[in-house]
Parts: sequence; structure tokens; C-alpha cells
Amino acid sequence: MKITKDTVVSIDYTLTNDQGVVLDSSEGREPLSYLQGARNIIPGLEKALEGKQVGDKLTVSVEPAEAYGEFNASLVQAVPREQFPEDLEIKEGMKFHANTEHGPVMVSVKSVDKDAITVDGNHPLAGVRLNFAVTVIGVRGANPEELAHGHPHVEGGCCGGGHGGCGCGCEHD
Ligand code: ZN
Repeated sequence: MKITKDTVVSIDYTLTNDQGVVLDSSEGREPLSYLQGARNIIPGLEKALEGKQVGDKLTVSVEPAEAYGEFNASLVQAVPREQFPEDLEIKEGMKFHANTEHGPVMVSVKSVDKDAITVDGNHPLAGVRLNFAVTVIGVRGANPEELAHGHPHVEGGCCGGGHGGCGCGCEHD
């Protein structure tokens, strides 16, 4: 069976950046399952997997535009220190949710000065080319419930069998 829209696909994968640093991997974990055509994974990887089948191995380089987007310099902003709680010790690398006009975004602290905190609202992988080494482990047709939810149900339940707490937003029974 080939990977096409509305198939549930399981893959083993290792993700590296251009410097060869491993950013993420399914090694030592269950394979990643996703629903093809439902944008569960980044568009560039989904595209590369279309038409593949069990046992296929591929290496894919995905440009930022087809992954987590280009780096947007306007999302890096200096915020006056007094806009943060006074008793909060702010350190470089800290991450927190910030409310913006575009809704809540995760920002990370780039630098801390006496009067200003520079924060970055880009996805940590924005502007990064992603290199995937992928092995296709399984391909099957999605069931109607999975299609309705827009994601696979693995091991007899939604998102790994847990009820309610998966954060996927779908209704569990
Ligand atoms: Zn579900």
C-alpha cells in the first residue's frame, strides 16, 4: 500500500540540522504515526512521503518555507524590563507564553539587559533547513473516526490511548 491522502503512516526518523546535530529522533521510541494529508507533520516531509511504501528509506532536506517558516526578524523585540513581573528572575533561554495581537505565542529570551529584555517569538526551528532520514514502518487506511479527528488513533485510542489529556482538541468518548 502506498502513502496517499487519508492513509495512516508510521515512520522512524532522525532529524538533523545542516551542522549534523540531531534535533529529534524516534530512536528508542515508538515510530511516529500521522495522517497523510492532514498536516500533522511539516508540509515538506509530507510531500516527500507521498507515494512511498513500507520499507522505503529516504533522506529529505526540507527548506524552512516547507518546515517551520523563515526566520522573522520583526518577531525579535526588546521589551522594557518593567513589563515583566518584578520578582521574576529572567534568564537567557527562558521560554514563556506571551499574549500578542496574533494570540498567544511561545517566546524565548534572547538577551537580558538592565532595562530591556530581548525576546524572540520565532519557532525554535524557524529559518532552519531540516534534514530527515526516514524509514516507512507502516501504511494503512484511516478509519472514519481518524478522518473526522484529522489524526491517527494508535493502540486503540486517540493519541496513544490516553483520554482527554492529549491536547489534540478532539472529543473523546
Ligand atoms: Zn482523536
